[in-house]
Amino acid sequence: MIKTNWHTHTARCGHAVGTDEEYVQAAIQGGIRTLGFSDHAAYLAPFPSERMDYEQVEEYKASVLSLKEKYKDQIDIYLGMEVEYYPTEWEQLSEYRRTLDYCILGQHNLELDGRSTYAIMGKDTLYEYCELLAGACEHALCDYIAHPDVALWSYPYMDSSVTQAAERIADISLHYNMPLELNTGSGVHSGKRRYPDGERYAYPTRQFFEVFARRQCPIIIGLDVHDPKLFLSDTDLNRARSVIEGLDCRILYDFDLVSAAKERKKLFY
Ligand SMILES: [Zn+2]
Ligand SMILES: [Zn+2]
Repeated sequence: MIKTNWHTHTARCGHAVGTDEEYVQAAIQGGIRTLGFSDHAAYLAPFPSERMDYEQVEEYKASVLSLKEKYKDQIDIYLGMEVEYYPTEWEQLSEYRRTLDYCILGQHNLELDGRSTYAIMGKDTLYEYCELLAGACEHALCDYIAHPDVALWSYPYMDSSVTQAAERIADISLHYNMPLELNTGSGVHSGKRRYPDGERYAYPTRQFFEVFARRQCPIIIGLDVHDPKLFLSDTDLNRARSVIEGLDCRILYDFDLVSAAKERKKLFY
């Protein structure tokens, strides 16, 4: 198991299980030394679902901070969120940026209205996805990009648009010195999926990491834990690693994301 994980959820999002304390205890048992909580951020707009409610934000913060104190001799705990970049939610995003140790960008949905796109099937929406990542980085809203290939989970073919998107994301990563995540969460946990051009994990995606390796983008491994017991198994981590086997990825182990966030926040204000 890795020793630092910045990508940890809580039951507040509605699609994770266990108490906050069970996550901490399992992380300690699994050998994690630095644990960042990054539950899905709440927004004022009603969409997307599967996020904590805005009314739960203060309780989330208080819970993580009390566990940080309670377990301080065994593990370093930090308070973050997994945000999406929605320009209409700027006020909430600014508040999270100001008050949390760090933010990671997990851009699942492209829009907040009822037409919100999670299933990206065409190159135009893939392009739009990349531009949202660029916008978030331009505004110094996040400290790493979680599952940069999540947009491909329903994308049918590994075509030239996929490589173009990877190149664009590599440009963004190198321009802003923004780490990209090798995600070991649900993209691998549920096993390989069948696509029109073959079987693969929904993400991570080898075509993306071929580009990230060639261009030596900084990579951080994120467990994207939605269940405490996943701290106790290497299965999903090994699956994600199998996707990048043989590639010369620049993986940053035990990266001090909180110090990096402190510097980045100066650009945000
Ligand atoms: Zn989630
Ligand atoms: Zn996540």
